[in-house]
Amino acid sequence: MSLATHNQAIQCTTADQLFIDDRGGLRSTRFDDIYFYPNKGAEETQHVFLNGNQLAQRWSQHPQNSFVIAETGFGTGLNFLASWDLWLRSVASASVSKQPTLYYYSTERFPLSRAAFEKVLKHYNPYPELAAQLLARYPDPVGGDYLLDFTNASGHAVKLVLLFGDSTEALSRLEHYPGSRAQSLMVDAWFLDGFAPSRNPDMWQQQLFSSIEQHSHQGSTLATFSAARQVREQLAQHGFSAHKTPGYGNKRDMLVAEYTGTDTATNTRQTPSTLSPCYFRYADKKPSDANAKTAVIIGAGIAGCTIAYQLAHAGWQLTIVDSNDSIAAAASGNSRAILYARTALQRSALSDFHEAAFHYAVPFYRRLFGHKTLSTQSCPDNQSNIGLNGMIKLGETVPDTLLQANTDMHSRQTVNAEQASALAGVDLSQGGIHYPESGWLDPVATCEALCNHPAIHFSGNTAIKTLQQTDNGWRIDAQNGQVLNAGTVVIACGQHSQQFALTQWLPLKSLRGQTSQIPATDQTRALKIALCQRGYITPMLNNSHEIGATYSTTEKNHALKATDQHENIANLCAMLVDGGKVIAESGTQTASALTGRVGFRCVAPDYLPIVGPMVALDEFNLRFAGLSKNARQTPDEYACLHKGLYVSTAFGSHGFTTAPLAAEILLAQIVGTAIPIGDKLRQSIAPARFLVRKLIRGK
Ligand code: SAM
Repeated sequence: MSLATHNQAIQCTTADQLFIDDRGGLRSTRFDDIYFYPNKGAEETQHVFLNGNQLAQRWSQHPQNSFVIAETGFGTGLNFLASWDLWLRSVASASVSKQPTLYYYSTERFPLSRAAFEKVLKHYNPYPELAAQLLARYPDPVGGDYLLDFTNASGHAVKLVLLFGDSTEALSRLEHYPGSRAQSLMVDAWFLDGFAPSRNPDMWQQQLFSSIEQHSHQGSTLATFSAARQVREQLAQHGFSAHKTPGYGNKRDMLVAEYTGTDTATNTRQTPSTLSPCYFRYADKKPSDANAKTAVIIGAGIAGCTIAYQLAHAGWQLTIVDSNDSIAAAASGNSRAILYARTALQRSALSDFHEAAFHYAVPFYRRLFGHKTLSTQSCPDNQSNIGLNGMIKLGETVPDTLLQANTDMHSRQTVNAEQASALAGVDLSQGGIHYPESGWLDPVATCEALCNHPAIHFSGNTAIKTLQQTDNGWRIDAQNGQVLNAGTVVIACGQHSQQFALTQWLPLKSLRGQTSQIPATDQTRALKIALCQRGYITPMLNNSHEIGATYSTTEKNHALKATDQHENIANLCAMLVDGGKVIAESGTQTASALTGRVGFRCVAPDYLPIVGPMVALDEFNLRFAGLSKNARQTPDEYACLHKGLYVSTAFGSHGFTTAPLAAEILLAQIVGTAIPIGDKLRQSIAPARFLVRKLIRGK
């Protein structure tokens, strides 16, 4: 296994690579092994993994906050479904006010394609209701990490984190601090699955067991169907006491184990992925408990509203302040926002983050607006707040590398001009990539819905002047004389996030963007879905369309510019067959006939958002000064953070797509729970990254 594989396209298991053998077993042609016991998979899972880890007994005692399972080899998801089912029947049925969360991290090197998954479910489906939910959310493995949140309406929380890639590499994405098990992600129960060591020797390497040890605490249990001597020996060498018990069906033995190694010792067998202390997530190694569960959020755009929503649902009391008089009045206040899907030629931190965020955002907004699913061809009501019925990115095609790795993608398809025109309802001269789950949202209605919670208080016309750390958290002084106090502050005000003494160093750039409104014409009235290319157009609202948007790094003017209106018109003409006619019919040949809106989007130099704990600049630079001499230098000390101070900004023009996942990641850091995604994605958006890069470059 090489970590270089991390950025490569993920190879799917296709339906053709699965077959039913003459004993009724679902078999992989790649490994020539079965996924589960023929027609008795649920019973086998129950015996090997659930009973092997004593989950029913452990869950009947009701875990306080959370329970973490990690699995090697997600396969058909049967182990996950069985665990979810048991979780709902045991923990969730307990009558307690606070439900714990089940985190299920699963690695998979060759994820089933959607068609393969459907083939499996036709063959064997012991948990039909849960499987239908899983299938509905099952991602095309375009990126490496996906969070599927199955928290139900009663608040029973189940978070599935899919980590695509080889198990050792994928486990290296879990949060791990050198020398501190207490701060690392700790797994309560391991499901060591994956085809048999004799059929799949690549997976069962010593490094895999090192990773398992890194994430185990005293009392972590492990179960595996394999009783191979090599597995037993590796477990013993990595702190587990393992013993054989009877296997399922015709398998004589299996292994169960418990971690009995030390919890405190530094693990000397560190994997290359070990987290740099620069990216530590707590000040004083603990989340703030002063002024417990109170926060002030500065900025009522999509960044602030998503974290307010998350904290309110976690039982916090919040004040969200904004210098404007209403929610979503600045960059988040256009009449339409597009849930922006993208397809990179090659995987990178940026593309993986965006992919994970897009996949998380779609069900997040559907749940927010109470939509179950929208058929891809349906045309939502124009007055609706959400139209996730598709989007076409014109002029692009799905890269061959992706198509070869996954022959039946459902999240995006290349469509020709004729197909694109049929999907869009208007004549298009070119095809593009169709994203059936994408679409548009009403930004103001979305932000208002997010803040519609009794624990969220909005204070408008409240420009914050200063932030001061106190014994109990933070004192926040507004220009209008208001003084607020809270244990936690989240700065989420776009480029204004730089305005405080403690945040001036954030490398934020401001991009001016102008949108235009054009009256609908006979042709554009028929537009059913959002279209994007250099510009974009969304379906009609109140007899007009929003088109846009321009970009300028230098312009600071808030007034509408005629050149930008022309640019938006030209970009629209490039998308539609009869663009010129549309413009003529709409009567908007002259820019002065158009209305529009100017907003300023905030971006970071690497175009990823900046989300996480605020670093104390001078102390940080001093502590990690050695990085300028040796980029691998990692002192045995943790990052210096301002306790209880967080930032969430630099979402550029994709805030509605990326803010929901960013808020989940931020919530975990504020309240001190497991990071519900690969930790590399958390690090890729951490504010500290710019300081680390500067130090390494010797600046
Ligand atoms: N747990 C699965 C379930 O509930 O359906 C069954 C797992 S199946 C026996 C083994 C899985 O391990 C396959 O899906 C296979 O693609 C995956 N696998 C094989 N080698 C792997 C590796 N090195 N890293 C991650 N997954 C791997």
